[in-house]
Amino acid sequence: MTDKHTNYGGAYVPEMLWETLRVLTAEFESAKKDPEFQREFEDLLKNYSGRPTPLIFAERATKDLGGAKVYLKNEGANHTGAHKITHCLGQGLLAKRLGKKMLIAETGAGQHGLATATVAAKLGLECVVFMGSEDIRRQRPNVFLMERLGTKVVPVEYGSKTLKDAVNEALKFWMENLDTAHYCIGSVLGPAPYPEMNRYFQSVISREIRAQLKERENKLPDAVLACVGGGSNAMGSFDDFLAEKSVRLIGVEAGGTGKKLGEHASRKIAGELGIFHGYKSLFLQTEDGQIAPTHSISAGLDYPGIGPDLADLYESGRVELAYATDDEAVSAADYFAKFEGVISALESAHALAEARKVAPKLSKDSVVVVTLSGRGDKDLFNFARAFKDESFKKFLKDEYERS
Ligand SMILES: *Cc1c(COP(=O)(O)O)cnc(C)c1O
Repeated sequence: MTDKHTNYGGAYVPEMLWETLRVLTAEFESAKKDPEFQREFEDLLKNYSGRPTPLIFAERATKDLGGAKVYLKNEGANHTGAHKITHCLGQGLLAKRLGKKMLIAETGAGQHGLATATVAAKLGLECVVFMGSEDIRRQRPNVFLMERLGTKVVPVEYGSKTLKDAVNEALKFWMENLDTAHYCIGSVLGPAPYPEMNRYFQSVISREIRAQLKERENKLPDAVLACVGGGSNAMGSFDDFLAEKSVRLIGVEAGGTGKKLGEHASRKIAGELGIFHGYKSLFLQTEDGQIAPTHSISAGLDYPGIGPDLADLYESGRVELAYATDDEAVSAADYFAKFEGVISALESAHALAEARKVAPKLSKDSVVVVTLSGRGDKDLFNFARAFKDESFKKFLKDEYERS
């Protein structure tokens, strides 16, 4: 089941999963052509998630930056606060079409687990989320919320007790429960058909940007910027503009604290061809080809690989990659909070940081659209730490003593 068009992608999975992936691919193809599926999906996006999300003209920031008009596509206005709900809803509906009773997922920081748990509750599916015990310890609030949504969070106690161990455990569980469980993957990655499927669901972002900007400015954007972890909010933001050669598409990765392996999560800096988690793409690797440790202040960008379509579009030159450091991201989040009244997620703040560099270089009649993949509520603790807020620390201590 290798991808027809590129060196990247494919489905490098145990033979046991081939039939399941074949059936999933066929169901996805039939759902795309089924008006009833489209109607259901669009209804959930509109009446549950709250689409279309607003396109905000960042008027004060535009003036201050002194170049292109900056617009913010606010995916943070979605139910649960980020774009992830969209491809989880799509997969949840597909799972029901396939007669599955259960969604399973792995999660690192808990964001994907939370989106999956939310969708499972809404669609009446059971949900099991695998999570490294080390991550459970660090992300207690998300674990608490998943459990409130009726999801079973299963701690994974081996290896580094983090995301990659959770992936292994989820895969093992999936192979033992293929008839009842759908494995909900959280970005435009994993074996085919997941990258194409999640890109298809997320492409609503770029279609909305096109329509909203046409109404506001009667033109196409000159550049679209989005942060890249696995690449789902970026592919969704780019998809409808791929054929428009005048539109620059810029993905922004996590530059972390430095350029040495282990200090960042940028495949532009050091990505090499490899096969991991069932697909071929660019990965951060050690000299002997093992997956390298990564670092980012934002959990959502802290991942060694990039979606195969993005790797291909980067190689062909259609998509540019850039990166922002931890400090640049925090500073950009602070800047847009003060200028626009928008507190973005730290992931999205990487794209905002690049916008601060790109916009001043462009003429005043150009338009830059930045996708804000999520809102900043979830990063309260990270922000407080980044700004060394002592009274926040005291608040946590007091809360602790109160309970
Ligand atoms: C998970 C997440 C990301 C990274 O995922 P992509 O698949 O690259 O979009 C970015 N922003 C937020 C807010 C997230 O929760």
